[in-house]
Amino acid sequence: MPERTPYIAANWKMHKTVAEAGEFVDALLPRIAATQHDVVICPPFTALSAVVERRYGTAVRVAAQNMHEEGSGAFTGEVSASMLVELDVEAVVLGHSERRQLFGETDEALARKLPAALAAGLEPILCVGETEEARDADQTEGVLERQLRADLAEVGDDRVAEVVIAYEPIWAIGTGRTATPEQAQEACAFIRDVLRERGGAADAVRILYGGSVKPANAAELLAQEDIDGALVGGASLDPEEFAQIVEAA
Ligand code: PEP
Repeated sequence: MPERTPYIAANWKMHKTVAEAGEFVDALLPRIAATQHDVVICPPFTALSAVVERRYGTAVRVAAQNMHEEGSGAFTGEVSASMLVELDVEAVVLGHSERRQLFGETDEALARKLPAALAAGLEPILCVGETEEARDADQTEGVLERQLRADLAEVGDDRVAEVVIAYEPIWAIGTGRTATPEQAQEACAFIRDVLRERGGAADAVRILYGGSVKPANAAELLAQEDIDGALVGGASLDPEEFAQIVEAA
C-alpha cells in the first residue's frame, strides 16, 4: 500500500484581500514550521501572487480555485492553466459545489479541465459530493460514481494518481453540519473503489473530506482509513484554527 502524505487545503473562497492574505501567511508559517504534511492555500486569483511570494522556501503550496480549459481565447473573466503556472501556482480546485451550483460548472467542462490542468503541470483537486436530497434518497454512491466517471473520463489511467479528490457532501459545506466520521469514511472508501476501475492508482490517490471541518472534529475525521486530508473552508480563514487542523492530521 503506498504511503499517502496527509493533504490539508485551505479554500478561502471570495475572502481576503492581498494585505489580509499576507498577514495570514505570516501568522501561519511559524505555526506549521515542523509539518511534514502537504499544506495548500487556495486564495482568490487576486491574492495568488502574494501567497506564492511569501511561501517560497516553506512547505506551503498554492492552488487556484478554478481555471478555464482552453489555453487562451475570447473567454471574458476566465484564467487559463498556463497563466496560473506562470505565477508559480501548483494546483487548482476544480468542480467545487459552489461552482457547480452557482456558476453552472458541468461535468462536460470538468472532463476538459482535468486533462488541461495536468498537461500544464497543475495538480487538480477535484471536488465531488451529493446534495442532501440525494443522500436522503440513498443516491450518494450513484452521484459520486457518475461525477467521478464523467470528470475523469479524459484523464489517462497513468495520471489518475496525480489527481486529489475532495469528497464534499453539499449539505455539510458552510452549514456547520459535518458528516460523521463513519459517513465520510464510507463515501471516501467508495470513491477509492470506483477509482480501482482505473487500475493500480487507486491506493495512491489522496482523498480529502470537506464540509465544516474544524479543530474540534478534524482529528477524528482524519483518522479514518480512506480520508487522507481535508479541504477546509470557513475554519481556514483563521491561521490558528487552520494550523490546529494541520496539526490534527
Ligand atoms: C469548502 O468550501 O470546500 C468547505 C468545505 O467549506 P466549509 O469548511 O466552510 O464547510
